[in-house]
Amino acid sequence: MRRLILLGAPGAGKGTQAQMLEQELGIPQISTGDILRGAIKAGTTLGQKAKGYMDRGDYVPDAVVIGLVRERLQQADTTEGWNLDGFPRTPGQAEALDTLLQQLHQHIEGVVLIDVPEPVLVERMTGRRICPLCKRVFHLSFNPPPPVPPYCTDHSDCPGELIQRPDDSIEVVPNRLAKYRQQTEPLVDYYAAQGKLHIVNGNRTPDEVYAALLTLLLAEQPPEHKTEHN
Ligand SMILES: [Zn+2]
Repeated sequence: MRRLILLGAPGAGKGTQAQMLEQELGIPQISTGDILRGAIKAGTTLGQKAKGYMDRGDYVPDAVVIGLVRERLQQADTTEGWNLDGFPRTPGQAEALDTLLQQLHQHIEGVVLIDVPEPVLVERMTGRRICPLCKRVFHLSFNPPPPVPPYCTDHSDCPGELIQRPDDSIEVVPNRLAKYRQQTEPLVDYYAAQGKLHIVNGNRTPDEVYAALLTLLLAEQPPEHKTEHN
């Protein structure tokens, strides 16, 4: 399984797993945010279109995003696999993606939901502290910063003063999780109905989650998947 989608709530560790997949297996993480920024920077036709919407504060329409994903999935680094990040977000987008992949003679081999209980997600997010200068990330319980002063001075002379991102505050986190659930549950149902959904317990160390992910990825493919490569 080398063409996949990772799903997971904020704080579930999806980004960490995506990085490990990219570094260890060479499966590139295809993030729609990156695609958008790249296309705008390159000034492609679709990039200019997307920029127009974003400058007006509008959502970029699905058709434009799909067009950008189409371009991205035809680039050389994706021939061995990809991990789509941030897309699709709705069953409508998932259907559009299925259509696009059919045209490209590709398909999603599996969708992996990294499952973490909500209280654990809340603890992970609200305890996070970041250095605004060097971007190093700490956690009050799991990866504590130097005790006094609260500076990022442990391994360097970085004078950054640690902050909590507004997104990670206890006032905001429950809303983020509710929004995630509302948005993602229909998508989970969509892929479960296709028989593509796998659930991995994400309430353990990143290495343990990665090991479970690898087991899934390397598991024997159903026959119809095998024939694609013959
Ligand atoms: Zn720093």
